[in-house]
Amino acid sequence: MEITVLGSGTVTPSLKRNASGLVVRTSEAWVLVDMGPGTIRRMCEAGIDYRNIDVILVTHFHPDHVSDLVPFLFASNYDYEAVREERFHLVGPTGMEQFYEAQVGMYGDWIVPKGDRLVIREMDARQPDTFEIEGLWIRSRPAAHTFPSLSYRIEADGSSVTVTGDTDVSDDLVHLARGTDLLVCESSMPDDMKVRGHLVPSEAGRIASSARAKRLLLTHFYPPCDEVDVVSQAAAVFSGEIFRAEDLMVLRV
Ligand SMILES: [Zn+2]
Ligand SMILES: [Zn+2]
Repeated sequence: MEITVLGSGTVTPSLKRNASGLVVRTSEAWVLVDMGPGTIRRMCEAGIDYRNIDVILVTHFHPDHVSDLVPFLFASNYDYEAVREERFHLVGPTGMEQFYEAQVGMYGDWIVPKGDRLVIREMDARQPDTFEIEGLWIRSRPAAHTFPSLSYRIEADGSSVTVTGDTDVSDDLVHLARGTDLLVCESSMPDDMKVRGHLVPSEAGRIASSARAKRLLLTHFYPPCDEVDVVSQAAAVFSGEIFRAEDLMVLRV
């Protein structure tokens, strides 16, 4: 697998750190996890054609994680160049269908992919859920953030990547990330600026350690995280390799 960070930032507008977005490429499929504002543009910068995306996983419905869905759907119908003709999947927590219908209520059929190409699936927001799609296994667990919020684990090609979305400390996350090859973990604020519903680097490190994750990628940084060494804060409690996410960074798993 290969992952590309499209957005290592948050709701705070920044040229350096776009809002949340991550592409996971397996031998069988392209998966996009979250799509905050600017994600599609970052895909262009990364040289990733948005029409490749087979599966979109939405962690939760905060705009910094999902607001590029509408332009994505609009382009899927009216791109000046050829549109994707194969099916693609939109997966999110309980409420995904309702969220999509609300967007259609505002924008109309313009954003409804023609020809039944879009398949929507809801994951259980209250308990662990699993399904197989396009040759990969997707597992989810509730995340300790606003309800409904999920963390995802993607398994393919004998490897796994676990993506937390926004979360606070949670046993569910430790279970989901058990033995994972790469834990992509939110780390919103430095250790001394903890905000409820989010993690700080040492908490991310402790989760990676408890889960025996092999490697840890810290991401979802508010600006104060660029003033400190977040990797050292996590390294105090996690002995595996730790990366600080930057937009357009690529990692092999
Ligand atoms: Zn967020
Ligand atoms: Zn959030």
